Amino acid sequence: MTTAPVRYLVVPTTDAARGARSARFGDKTLLWVPADQRLGRASRTAPGLLLVTQVGRSFQDDFPDVVPLLDHGRHLVISAADKPRRRSNNHWRVEPLRAGTTVVDVPSAAAARVDPAVASLVGELSPTSYQDDLTWFASLPTRHSLSPSFTTALDFTAARMVALGYGVTRTAVTVGGGRSHNLIGDRPGTGGGGVVLITAHLDSINHAGGPAANAPGADDNASGSAGVLELGRLLSTRSWKHDVRLILFGGEEQGLFGSKQYVASLPPAERSRIRAVLNMDMIASKNSALPTVLLEGAQVSSGLMADLATAAATYTGLKVETSLNPFASDHVPFINAGIPALLTIEGADSANGHIHTATDTLNFLDWGLAAEILRMNVAALAGWLEPVTAVPTRPRPAGSVVAWGPGRIDVFAVGTDSAMHHKAFDGTWKEFESLGGVVLS
Ligand SMILES: [Zn+2]
Repeated sequence: MTTAPVRYLVVPTTDAARGARSARFGDKTLLWVPADQRLGRASRTAPGLLLVTQVGRSFQDDFPDVVPLLDHGRHLVISAADKPRRRSNNHWRVEPLRAGTTVVDVPSAAAARVDPAVASLVGELSPTSYQDDLTWFASLPTRHSLSPSFTTALDFTAARMVALGYGVTRTAVTVGGGRSHNLIGDRPGTGGGGVVLITAHLDSINHAGGPAANAPGADDNASGSAGVLELGRLLSTRSWKHDVRLILFGGEEQGLFGSKQYVASLPPAERSRIRAVLNMDMIASKNSALPTVLLEGAQVSSGLMADLATAAATYTGLKVETSLNPFASDHVPFINAGIPALLTIEGADSANGHIHTATDTLNFLDWGLAAEILRMNVAALAGWLEPVTAVPTRPRPAGSVVAWGPGRIDVFAVGTDSAMHHKAFDGTWKEFESLGGVVLS
């Protein structure tokens, strides 16, 4: 088969750049002009061009001679003349580039009014706690799904979850002929009926070196695993209507085995009470000039993506990009089952070339980017979990009557701001009772 020649142009994205023969990649838009105009009119795809979605630089590493026509890190455009024999594997996928499509969008979310309760939660993020956990994970020689040190990492994580008040369950995961595990931490809400999942894969891999080789996996995915623990810690300091569930998956690098088997095991009633799945995979490597996060989901998760974009605009300085082209991480099995799930991943103008090698190490991480992504995430999680507002809008007396004297009552009350307030009453008992006070005599 011959492919029609095509002329293409990469331009900065403007409204003028959008059209039937274009595809948007964040701030860049690819325009093309097919030499065969009839084919161009009839075709819903870009003649002669292909879209590649890749994990890290996996496609570029497998095909070093292929020069991408457009490089946006996780997404590439290549010439159809460079089409590989296979359409996909666990790490890259090649498909026709659809015409008039937005592969990566830059949503224009406006900042919302700052909610003081959310701002205080966001402000309690501990970069130290996060860095300590991440450093510990990356200090293991590997977290290969079938290795003894994967179990060491799982034991450490389970102990941390228990200390934070989560009930912990381990489930076996079949990985080829071997066995790995998922770790699940549960903290019930006050009866809202829903559950919000915060997930990451705990396993790491060294592709070239094999199962025994060094695989520190600092970015992929100690960054997400430590993120689950830090978000779990923050959420354990508040009361929520809905249940919090933390999950660390095994077998991700071998083909999403942990998340596929988890989703398959869910009874329909459990599936339908999932309000959101927030997956983190590679959140600590800065591959763009501006600190950028990519929110990757599907139509089913577009509401969650909008919430995260608003949270980013309100509580962080992150630039947000979005993509409805889910691929190769633990959000995918949920999306395939119709469950609202998405991935938060470091933005990429060019891809992180260290993952899946012995050089995915701490020195390449950007702690500030990871902290910003976690701040965005916890702000959105607070909305999905719904805080329990047990505190009445009026002052609540700390005791029935703290002190009184002839013709006068002193009430000490804890306000919605958690501070102690004092009010002296020389009026009627009724005013006192209207504020929730109890008359003792
Ligand atoms: Zn990963």
